[in-house]
Amino acid sequence: MAVQKRRQSSARRDSRRAQWMKMAPPARSACPNCGASRVPHRACDACGWYGPAKTGRVVVPPKAQAAEAEEQNG
Ligand SMILES: [Zn+2]
Repeated sequence: MAVQKRRQSSARRDSRRAQWMKMAPPARSACPNCGASRVPHRACDACGWYGPAKTGRVVVPPKAQAAEAEEQNG
């Protein structure tokens, strides 16, 4: 195993750990069902829709309905 010769400075260490700050934010696109902003290839947070407008379907219960179901159950 390789062994380091010199201790890395805190500036060097911290600048390495800060690389994620340079990253672009995740891409977002409009939901074909409700128009809300969502991450591509993921179910819509607002309505639970996945896929194109015609062939897609609701795969996750929307948050509003899920909250109502929880209120009725418990
Ligand atoms: Zn949606």
